[in-house]
Amino acid sequence: MLKEAMFYEKLEDHRVRCMLCPHHCIIKPGHQGICRSRVNEDGQLIASNYAQIASLALDPIEKKPLYHFYPGKAILSAGTFGCNLSCTFCQNHLLAHGNPATYAVEPQQLLELAEKSRANASIGVAFTYNEPIIWYEYIMDTAVLLKEKDLKVVLVTNGYIEAEPLNQLLPCVDAMNIDVKAFTEGFYKKLCKAGLKQVMETVEQAAQHCHVELTSLIIPGENDDLNDINEMAKWIAGIDPYIPLHLSRYHPAYKLDREATPSGTLEQARQIAREYLKYVFVGNLAGPDNNTYCSECEALLIKRDAYYTETIALDQGHCASCGREIKYIVT
Ligand code: SF4
Repeated sequence: MLKEAMFYEKLEDHRVRCMLCPHHCIIKPGHQGICRSRVNEDGQLIASNYAQIASLALDPIEKKPLYHFYPGKAILSAGTFGCNLSCTFCQNHLLAHGNPATYAVEPQQLLELAEKSRANASIGVAFTYNEPIIWYEYIMDTAVLLKEKDLKVVLVTNGYIEAEPLNQLLPCVDAMNIDVKAFTEGFYKKLCKAGLKQVMETVEQAAQHCHVELTSLIIPGENDDLNDINEMAKWIAGIDPYIPLHLSRYHPAYKLDREATPSGTLEQARQIAREYLKYVFVGNLAGPDNNTYCSECEALLIKRDAYYTETIALDQGHCASCGREIKYIVT
């Protein structure tokens, strides 16, 4: 099924300008945008990935990662191909930059699968594995159906989207994990061919509408400067100090060959971020304490070990020990 893309304008000579993300690709007939998922067909911009699924699985919600959004539950997770960023360290490059096999799953069919997965503790659908922003039309159409059935909609995204499409999408979204890949424009420009400012704006806009958690993949020698991590944590705290931050361990992948992030680097980064933020977790690494404790009395609220999660002392959004309301945990 050919689906016309949203957010574009027609130019002379059958060219089009896509306005979905800040790249604003100008695309000639027969060509595609940077993301490979929006194609100019005779002067009309087509979402070529509409209803095309490359990966579908039932995952723990903690795998997104979302630690404070229905902890211990599962979520049906779907992805397609393509990405609007060009990160040299991409941890999912076979989908983002390769040509995986796909099959058609229309919005109504994905809804039916999501409803069936409720029997396995699933709360809804996560659009993940590759960049969901470039699956915009499919997500919009599916999210409306999911919301009608009280199923949750989650995006795991790089946040590189224009304000207007984001505004239109946010009412359909319950939670987002947004990558803040570094806290310098230089990193985004050099390693992702994108910009930090637009990602920051997405985080600020999204946090007003839905549950938000953030992820930073810490890469030795590229974005592990502790001053930058300090500035990033300060900025997040200015939005809400209860926003969970996941500091994730880098492993060599795709075009970037660095050593895996030393555990000591991650621990130092976590200590600094904790000066501003209530909840900082370390991902992709066995060993660190990733439990959630009450920020008032330090009682153990949620116990985690990899994807094993057990709620210990959380009572309808309050600490069962001291009674304090625990902000930013959705159960
Ligand atoms: S969504 Fe794709 S085609 Fe549109 S501006 Fe971004 S990279 Fe270019």
